[in-house]
Amino acid sequence: MKKRKKKVLRFIAFFTVLAFSICSFIIFLRDDMQFVIRDTVARFQNNEINNITVKNDIATESVTIEELKAYSNVTFNESMLLVNEEYRLSENYKPESAEYEARAVTVNTCIVQAFAKLSKTLLEETGETLYISSALRSFERQKEIKQEKGDIAQNPGASEHQTGLAVDVYVQYFAGESFTKCESGQFINSNCDDYGFIIRYPFFGKLKTGITYEPWHLRYVGFPHAKIINNSLITYEQYIEHFEPGVFYEYDGYIISRQVENNIKVPKKFASAVVSEDNTGHIFLTFCVSE
Ligand SMILES: [Zn+2]
Repeated sequence: MKKRKKKVLRFIAFFTVLAFSICSFIIFLRDDMQFVIRDTVARFQNNEINNITVKNDIATESVTIEELKAYSNVTFNESMLLVNEEYRLSENYKPESAEYEARAVTVNTCIVQAFAKLSKTLLEETGETLYISSALRSFERQKEIKQEKGDIAQNPGASEHQTGLAVDVYVQYFAGESFTKCESGQFINSNCDDYGFIIRYPFFGKLKTGITYEPWHLRYVGFPHAKIINNSLITYEQYIEHFEPGVFYEYDGYIISRQVENNIKVPKKFASAVVSEDNTGHIFLTFCVSE
């Protein structure tokens, strides 16, 4: 009986070592897996979200949304919309959109310049053209996709492609899951935050986002949010939750505050600001303190 137990233990040990060796070998061989490990470790080490601090001593004044719209240094856009199965968009929601002529696709107006800059940099750095396989998708189109693909597709209203803030990108020979097997895919994943984009569905985020790793799906959120999110071990859902309504936060020359629409307070002094609804019933205000 004892001999048999020993034999079983030896078998278990052998197969554990074998499985571990096979996994290590695959990771050693695969560029994209090595990349995702490096990226996750770097996010863990940087954890930029820890550099956001609460700012209590700020002189503020109350304004209405209409008054804020009249400020010449305030831009209203939709960059901070959180869209998922819990926070869906209505059938009637249509973003402010524009044609991105270089790829003949329609996107949210606020991403046109940022995406053009990102594409230009990639071309300069790697010689590769950044293509778009999917950009703005209507509620009706998402309904058709859901019917075609079933469980793997998001419900109509739950896809952030409806905002036009998300683009699925690829380069020649490397699309979808193989995007980060090439230098260009890794470059985009590592540098898109310099242009206001995040990897919306990171490797570690499935429990929170409900969606598996999508290194090709870029989502515009603007500054400094992209920098913080892409350099922290957090999802966009967790980022939004981090901001307690009504509180002012400071990060690298920016003041950030998430507020309710009928009780808006702004700093008495700021150089410029971006205001966006977040689709959770709040408004995100991002103030740039100095030019
Ligand atoms: Zn996508």
